[in-house]
This record gives sequence, C-alpha cells and structure tokens, in this order.
Amino acid sequence: MQVGIIDLERLSEIPKRHWAAHEFCFYIHDLIAHLTRVAEEIGAGELRIQLRDEADLEALRTSEDPVEFLIATGRTEEERRLMVNHVCRALFPDMLNFIHGGLIALEKRKFTMALSLFRKPFKEGLPILALMSADEGEFFQKLKSDPRRYFDGQEFNAPAKKEIIAAAIDICDGMEFAQPDALFSILFDYDNDGGLAGLFDKATHLFTRRSKNATEDYNINFIFKNPRDNDIYDSCYRQIAYVLLFVHLLQIELLSRMGFPKANYLDHLTRVSVGGFEAIFGNGPSRMVKFFNQEFREFMECPLCGEQIRLRKSTAAKFFLTEMLVCSRCGHEHQLPVSWIFTRATKEEE
Ligand SMILES: [Zn+2]
Repeated sequence: MQVGIIDLERLSEIPKRHWAAHEFCFYIHDLIAHLTRVAEEIGAGELRIQLRDEADLEALRTSEDPVEFLIATGRTEEERRLMVNHVCRALFPDMLNFIHGGLIALEKRKFTMALSLFRKPFKEGLPILALMSADEGEFFQKLKSDPRRYFDGQEFNAPAKKEIIAAAIDICDGMEFAQPDALFSILFDYDNDGGLAGLFDKATHLFTRRSKNATEDYNINFIFKNPRDNDIYDSCYRQIAYVLLFVHLLQIELLSRMGFPKANYLDHLTRVSVGGFEAIFGNGPSRMVKFFNQEFREFMECPLCGEQIRLRKSTAAKFFLTEMLVCSRCGHEHQLPVSWIFTRATKEEE
C-alpha cells in the first residue's frame, strides 16, 4: 500500500509491503520539522520579563547575556523556562538531521548507516526530551550543575531512563498507544532479539561483546550483510515509527509549555499522527478511526456518488496522512480539510 506522500522512485528499493510504514515515518519526521519551524517563526519559547526596579535595569546593563541577568536577579523560574526552551529549540533540529539521514539511508538499503544514524536521536535525544517532559526541574538542575556526570550514563542510566520514559508517557496527551516497557525494551534492552538496541550497537561497532549481542566467531558486525536482505525492513519499521511518534508527542507537550498559541492545532496533530500509526501498525479496531467517523460524519459524503463514507482501516492511513477520503462505492478520492474543520469546531465549542 502506498499512501502517496513519497514519490514511487524513492520507494522503489523498499518492499511494497513496507511503503506505508516508510511514508508514515517520513510523515512524522516532517511533522516534527514543521512544528520546529513554526515554533521558531512565531517566537514560541521567547520570554518576556518585566523589569521591576532600578536594580533590575542595572543588572540588565551589566549582564553579559540574558541568563546571567536572570541569575543575578534571582529569577530561577524564568531561568529554567528559558533554558528548557533553548534546549528544545536546538535539540529537535539536531535530532531531525539524524532521523532524516536514517530514513533516506533506508530508501537506499544502506542498513548499517540508517541504524547508526537513528542511534543518537533515539537513545540520547529521546531520554532528554522525556526527562524535560516528565521532570523539568530535575533536568534544569542537572544541566546547570553537573551535566557531564549526570548525562554520561552513570546516573541517568538504563533504570533511570526507564522510569523517566514511563513518567513522560503518563504526562503527555495521546500516549495511550505507548507502553513504557515496550519502548524501553526496543531502545535499551540488548537481550531483546527483535529490538533496536542490539542492532544500533552492531551497526555502530565492528565488534561487540555484550552476551546476547556479541559478534559471532569468524565474523565482523554487518560487513558481510547482503544488501538485498529485507530482514531489517521487516523487523524495524514498526519500532522506528513507534519511537518517532513518541518523540512527536513529547514535542507537542514541550511546545504547549513554551506558549505555542494553538492548543487545538496541537490536539489535531496528536489525533492524526496517532490515527495514522494505528491504521498502519495497530492490531484491532482503531480509536481514532472511530473518533473521526463519529465527529466528521456530516462532512464524509462522496461528492461524486453521494455515498456516506466511513473510514476503514485500509483507507484510514491515507486519510490521516494526506486528508484524502476514498469512497468505498465509486473509488473517488476527495480532500477533506480536517485541520480546518477541526479548528472551526473547537472555536464553536469555545
Ligand atoms: Zn463515491
């Protein structure tokens, strides 16, 4: 199944059964990039500080940078806000570079390259986003006082990351699809044969020696791998999509705290991204399909034959990712501007 957001030419090396999965991963990448850019354009994350007195004015004059001013005048809360915002604005573009490179490498069957590119944003960037979402104060304290020791893995180790991922899932909207144990196991458990942790390690190092992930005798990790094998595609797409969706929802949470002005727009993005994931990777009925069938029923009529359209799992991915509705009777496709309708609907509710 092709969703239709990536040219066929680029999909040609990927087995057809994984096209929708690949497109979904790119779709989430693009959403994260889009939100990062919009947040920058509208100045989300910028702080306004009211100067209280002459002393403030003097501190502002003599401080070398805004952070120094905030520290000098005892504005710890603002200092924390500024630093968290600052990290968010810089960390997402860094993560996106690697994710983009990894996805492009998958299109070219460069598996080791793809896996080693995903490693940094997934294993290092993601826990930081989770920590910022779950416990902003702790993140601020550690980054300010002792980032080297804390973040190099001694303190912020695997069990701590597991806890933080679970706490972030509890806090963020739309996380019903996510299981802390599953996410942790995918990224950090070398005993999980089907997970990404072992693959990341082997893709990054020629020799590995962890018990369940050791290089076999007479072998060097991945260098003899046949590029025509499809096993990486078969085992990884769902996990990559799962992790990317998690990152996207963390971004939505963090942006909402940075004063992103449109909460309902973020709500809408949560629904379509989770809906797309459920349609492509989910087992059983999708909550989002049900939600859209209920909420948008009056708009879901085929303009050509008049059929009342109901989303099905087979047509839902295309709908969530491209806003195109497929008529089950005549096959005609038409656009339903969901984000627009959604914004209107929320406005009327208010
Ligand atoms: Zn029709």
